[in-house]
Amino acid sequence: MTEAAIYSHAIAQPASRPSLSARTKIVATVGPACSSPEQLAALVAAGVDIFRLNMAHGQLDEHTETVRAIRQLSDRTRPLAILVDLAGPKIRLGQLVQDPLLCRRDVELEFVRGETAQGPLQLVSNYDRLVDELDIGDPVMLADGTVRLMVTQKTADSVKCRVLNAGDVRSRQGINLPGAKLSVPALTDHDRKCARWAAEQQADLISLSFVRSPRDVDSLRQLLKQHGSQATVIAKIEKQEALQELEQIVRAADGIMVARGDLGVEVDVAHIPLFQKQIIRVCNQWQRPVIVATQMLDSMQRLPRPTRAEVTDVANAILDGADACMLSGETAIGLYPVESVETMTRILLAIEPSLVRAASPSAPPSDDPNSALTHPVTQSVVFGAGRISDHLKAKLVVMVTRTGATALIASNYRSQIPTLGVSDDEATLRRMCLYWGITPLRGAPCADVRKLLAYIDQWGRQQQILKPRDWVVLVTGSGLEPGAHNVLFVHEVPGTKS
Ligand code: PEP
Repeated sequence: MTEAAIYSHAIAQPASRPSLSARTKIVATVGPACSSPEQLAALVAAGVDIFRLNMAHGQLDEHTETVRAIRQLSDRTRPLAILVDLAGPKIRLGQLVQDPLLCRRDVELEFVRGETAQGPLQLVSNYDRLVDELDIGDPVMLADGTVRLMVTQKTADSVKCRVLNAGDVRSRQGINLPGAKLSVPALTDHDRKCARWAAEQQADLISLSFVRSPRDVDSLRQLLKQHGSQATVIAKIEKQEALQELEQIVRAADGIMVARGDLGVEVDVAHIPLFQKQIIRVCNQWQRPVIVATQMLDSMQRLPRPTRAEVTDVANAILDGADACMLSGETAIGLYPVESVETMTRILLAIEPSLVRAASPSAPPSDDPNSALTHPVTQSVVFGAGRISDHLKAKLVVMVTRTGATALIASNYRSQIPTLGVSDDEATLRRMCLYWGITPLRGAPCADVRKLLAYIDQWGRQQQILKPRDWVVLVTGSGLEPGAHNVLFVHEVPGTKS
């Protein structure tokens, strides 16, 4: 029996062929519209790589059920990652006396201390220093920025605001204070509880909302470490203050989310396109994966087809250099969750061939060894693999990786050639779900290069990616001598051309 035949039985069938699935990763938010095991499976078949659990909604025991369903689905199909999104220090309205409250233009509303409003025009919040920290002239945004107020009067215990843009507000909706520097801690008690739960569930990625500085990212990482989690830490950029410390935040985090929902309220929405490009550029430079989020296919919450503008938005995000695109309400509460993912996959497949791969090795612009993800030799070998595979017109690139870092560097090259990330660590395989162009493949015998190549040959033929005489480029660790760096093999698929 040949080596190739020995491994044929062990090959897991992915839910869709990697050669046909998009290289940009898709994050889908879980909610009532998609939380049954059957609906989750349909989303995976349509192209989802990462499921996002939003801690601003639902109870932990419900989320525990969802985690179990996703893990079972992942065992049956292919590695799938779970992103736990912490709500962060979001300021929210308390209970309104009249709910919903129609805020008419020029009406005066009054923020007061405490937990209970006394009349329909009084507002309370979950942030007890709000009255102290607002000043006359400050803007206050309610209902996702649709209702705009301005502070007109301030006393020791209350702040009056005039309604400039009218609309409805509801109890517990978010309050945005564009430009204000608040003294709230980065992690609320609820975030700490959710982070501990996420660590117990071995969540793969954990994001923090309303990050203002690299210290906020460090606090989350420290907390996760205390609970034994090595999850990928994602900083959500949605405040003016975060934009001011962007590079430091990118370097402190393992990944970034362009959280356009709140960002579009905290800063003038007209600046979002350029901020998006700037954030993506800094992430690409520092080799941190970046997710573009919110309203990507918003109209598909209600309709089966996207608008031209939404299609163009998704396309532009990946042309900007995004690693992943996220769906929120579209999959969580929309009428067309599967169609939304299918549409996103179609757009990604249509646009990705036009992406221009990195022209040269783009090692992070720093001598600081803590900011670089891997050793400069690894960076060079991986970029060398990219060049060689282009030159040979290789049909497959394989990155053998213990932590996923080698695959992340390869992802940065934006190769058009299918690229596998193989590892014998399931957590690493799931981590790679975020890396652009990397298909995590489980079950490959990583420790023995000869067996691995036989397995890859067999797998590639089954997937109709490889045929005899094709080239495969493989990067792996070196067992040649202690402390030695990576090695690169160029392998020719055996057999004769038919
Ligand atoms: C956003 O604001 O764009 C976002 C992704 O965060 P959330 O959905 O938690 O508001």
